[in-house]
Amino acid sequence: MLPLPVLERVREALPDWDGSGMSVMEVSHRGRAFRQVAERAEADLRELLAIPDDYAVLFLQGGATLQFAMVALNLAEQHSVADYLRTGAWSKKAHAEAGRLCRARLAADASANGYTRIPPSADWAPDPRARYLHYTTNETIGGVEFAFVPEAGGVPLVADMSSDILSRPIDIPRFGIIYAGAQKNIGPAGLTLVIARRDLLGRARAGIPSMLDYQAHADAGSMLNTPPTFAWHVAGLVFQWLKEEGGLTAMAERNRRKAHKLYAAIDGSSFYSNAVDPACRSRMNVPFVLADPALDARFLEQADTAGLANLKGHRSAGGMRASLYNAMPEAGVDALIDFMRDFETQCA
Ligand SMILES: *Cc1c(COP(=O)(O)O)cnc(C)c1O
Repeated sequence: MLPLPVLERVREALPDWDGSGMSVMEVSHRGRAFRQVAERAEADLRELLAIPDDYAVLFLQGGATLQFAMVALNLAEQHSVADYLRTGAWSKKAHAEAGRLCRARLAADASANGYTRIPPSADWAPDPRARYLHYTTNETIGGVEFAFVPEAGGVPLVADMSSDILSRPIDIPRFGIIYAGAQKNIGPAGLTLVIARRDLLGRARAGIPSMLDYQAHADAGSMLNTPPTFAWHVAGLVFQWLKEEGGLTAMAERNRRKAHKLYAAIDGSSFYSNAVDPACRSRMNVPFVLADPALDARFLEQADTAGLANLKGHRSAGGMRASLYNAMPEAGVDALIDFMRDFETQCA
């Protein structure tokens, strides 16, 4: 979901952007006008997240999925060890992809509890030789989110923040590399953000394509080839909107309230349930099931009629999932809760 004011700004400027007589999609990425867009987007992001100068910000392509591989190719050799915390479907994929490229191991694994809890850090078994420790801050499908930053014991911490970046302030210096596909909580698909501590650049494995080398992208100002200019532009408008809304502290408070309300409604009913340990429930993605799955289709159909879209759970999980990204207003959550109560009454 994108903020309506951003969509309106995009619509307004679509045929004639900034008096250029063209849309932003038609200008050259090398021209002065687009360079300003690119620079402002980076400056606004740096301000929002308080990103120190010793971190590079890269605007890349290939999605978070390409980062599963790029992280391993830039920080590890084929024979080196990399640690993963497996807490759901996305960290499982990240670990599996790294396994093709280095000795990826599991420092913690929540598969045994059905990915409903993050194992206590006292039970983790990290390898001190690991080149990095990777985790997924928010499991978009399972609805499991870290409420804390893991202690990496001196090893660079790598985080996939695809579905909760910009939802709250982040203590950037705790991280080696942060990456996020833009399409969940930033902007349109096609753009991938990477925030990397500069001393971790320039270590890419020999022989890899330059398009997979962080240093090459950093040297080229994320314009090693034609970047996804439109997505970059819209992401920049989202950053401006976030600043206007009071920044990430305000977002964090809003997101906390939205999630709290929805979980309270689910927990307060015997008709709906969410199996995730309350200590690690996601503020962004709230999966829930109906007591009788035979009612799922009716629930989704009536929700759709009521203007409540995209509630079907991920195909691997079933049930329902409400995504409460930054752009979802509190009124949207209220409408969902009202609908859920009405549906429950109707089925009783
Ligand atoms: C969606 C998602 C991905 C995959 O993103 P792509 O950009 O489609 O590659 C990876 N990690 C998380 C946490 C996600 O939510």
